[in-house]
Amino acid sequence: MFETTIAGSLPKPSWLAKTETLWAPWQLEGEALARGKQDAALVWLKLQEDAGIDTVTDGEQFRIHFVHGFLEHVSGIDWDNKTKMGIRDNRYVVDVPQVTSKLSRKGSAHGEEVRFARAHTKNKLKFTIPGPMTICDTIADAHYGSRADMAMAFADILNEELRELDAIGIDVVQIDEPAFNVFMEDVKEWGVEALNRTIAGLKCETAVHVCYGYGIEANIKWKETLGSEWRQYEEIFPAINSSNIDQVSLECANSKVPMSLIGLLKDKKIQVGVIDVANTAIETPEQVAAVLRSAMEHADVERILASTNCGLTPLSRDVAEAKLVALGQGAALMRKEVS
Ligand code: ZN
Repeated sequence: MFETTIAGSLPKPSWLAKTETLWAPWQLEGEALARGKQDAALVWLKLQEDAGIDTVTDGEQFRIHFVHGFLEHVSGIDWDNKTKMGIRDNRYVVDVPQVTSKLSRKGSAHGEEVRFARAHTKNKLKFTIPGPMTICDTIADAHYGSRADMAMAFADILNEELRELDAIGIDVVQIDEPAFNVFMEDVKEWGVEALNRTIAGLKCETAVHVCYGYGIEANIKWKETLGSEWRQYEEIFPAINSSNIDQVSLECANSKVPMSLIGLLKDKKIQVGVIDVANTAIETPEQVAAVLRSAMEHADVERILASTNCGLTPLSRDVAEAKLVALGQGAALMRKEVS
């Protein structure tokens, strides 16, 4: 009951990359970088365990960007001729690589990282990977001709990768699909099909993370345009509830999402976001408990997990650490209250 986990990413230590900066380049190189990433993952595995987080992650310490970290291991992509693309429905314009020929996996992308994390924690281990729709919203298509077709190709190579990670011994795989909250029609038309294809045949538990993005300025401004009630989830939850996914990770802390919407996910476990990633105020255990209590009004208690709204990467290490502690304490408070 009220098992705890996190959405995935955590800040890089200052010796590994510039802090409080999204997508900061590495400060080390070669062997020192390889060792540095492992050391950073060790720090966060320990700090998550100490904070009472039941299902831990490597804090995404091995990659700079949550999508490109995987794409580097895929062939069929031209990284030299980038093109401008308005992503998340033009919320930001960035230079993106292009798909120029049939996609395939070059080899294992994250196997070594998962093997390392698995060897260093006895807690349940979660691995996070970008979903097909979000990948397709971060790369230009000069080969497939339709986003849906390109998404299915990505789903197949993600599935190949995830079968390998599953065999190494992850307990949960989480598919990150922030694009689900932007292209709601596509979710129904092909997004859920691509999601099912991504997780086909896995033995571990599966989750999809659908948030309103990192706590960066472009996202904070976008949220201001969404009105007094955010109802994007309402459109996509019926499709997600009919998918093969086990868990859904949501942004609930300080968001304007009506909690009643989780009532549409009757057959899923729900990772309720109880930690805001867009401000530096540390939640009190009581505030965390209050969000969980309100989730209990709309979902059976056995299906409720406590998590963060999104990744904690852009925050300082001290703030992130304190937020993990608040998450663990708030969930413990609720376990006591309900038992
Ligand atoms: Zn997120």
